[in-house]
Amino acid sequence: MRVHVTLRLGILAMVASTTTAQNDLAERAQQIHAEAFVMDTHTDTTTKFEDPEWDFAERHKEGHVDLPRLREGGYKAVFWAIYMGKTPGDGKAVKTALKRIDSVHEMIRRFPEDLMLATTAAHIRAAAAQNKIACLMGVEGGHIIEDELAVLRMYHKLGVRYMTLTHSFNTNWADSSGTDLPVEPEHNGLSDFGKEVVVEMNRLGMMVDVSHVADSTFWDALEVSQAPLLASHSSCRALADHPRNMSDKMIRAMAKRGGVIQINFYTGYIDPEKISLAVKLRPKIAEIRKKYADDPKKGAQERRRLYRETFSKETPASVVVDHIEHVIKIAGPGHVGLGADWDGVSQVPAGLEDCSKVIYITEEMLERGHDDATIKMVLGGNMLRLMEEVEETAASMR
Ligand SMILES: [Zn+2]
Repeated sequence: MRVHVTLRLGILAMVASTTTAQNDLAERAQQIHAEAFVMDTHTDTTTKFEDPEWDFAERHKEGHVDLPRLREGGYKAVFWAIYMGKTPGDGKAVKTALKRIDSVHEMIRRFPEDLMLATTAAHIRAAAAQNKIACLMGVEGGHIIEDELAVLRMYHKLGVRYMTLTHSFNTNWADSSGTDLPVEPEHNGLSDFGKEVVVEMNRLGMMVDVSHVADSTFWDALEVSQAPLLASHSSCRALADHPRNMSDKMIRAMAKRGGVIQINFYTGYIDPEKISLAVKLRPKIAEIRKKYADDPKKGAQERRRLYRETFSKETPASVVVDHIEHVIKIAGPGHVGLGADWDGVSQVPAGLEDCSKVIYITEEMLERGHDDATIKMVLGGNMLRLMEEVEETAASMR
């Protein structure tokens, strides 16, 4: 009898100490998270900003991002993507971009207590000091400048601080990696004008974003750029072999020059099982693209529906931390962060269902034994450092 009582007490003590340890971890995670500059560098919610029916201040069941969930996630800065698909020229891309940029400025005007426009690392720090979320912008796709450096310069004046050199298709001056279908190279990387674009971005202080570009474009950009590069929403090819992800060689080379890769949460990029499933979908995807050639919005919806149906098995959130750890392992802690692709993708991992859950990253990194400094660098510190370096390069080129 006594043996049994002792055993039971022992088990109770063990359970109690495990619970205490978990509470300690959760508490420490909350503290680190609150002190860090939690930042996301690729959020596609921007298109919703133009919809008068959609309320940013409401906590939505759908989608990944709104003001209440950003606050719950403890975000201090967000890069809103100025995103659009393949848009024909003649000012259409510029007009769409201007409307989207305006919608970010309008959102900031409507929520002055919560949001603040930021174009520098110093602005992000200032916003945090006032308990406001710093709003930054990145143009997703070089096609959006319609081959005009003047347009690029105007985007910079309106507050845009990165440009992804391509989206899922080639521009007139840079090759893309493609996303769900392979893309034939046209320029073998960057054309001469493409190289001019990169140098002009350096001079302006706009980060050169290599997410979505072909490997050849990445290597050209690395050679030409005078400032370190950004991959605003890409993951690791060594863990998940997708052309949208970066090889170890690319990550090491970029890191050596001070660049940062911001890990994408899309399960179709980070989970190798889903990458093989997506390859099998290619004929269907090509069919949808053809069918909705004149209605890209509907086409994108249909493609997302197809992926959602195919990716029925959930990917655990720990996979995101595997990608973060992989970069730390091969390039050190100073070159990785978070670019979830919120509201831009059809499926995110279980446990990271929306932006309110981002503290999971902090908890999981703590659990895996990372120190406070490393976790804070990943959550946003590395991006602040990168932005400061890009600002210094621009200042030295004036
Ligand atoms: Zn993207």
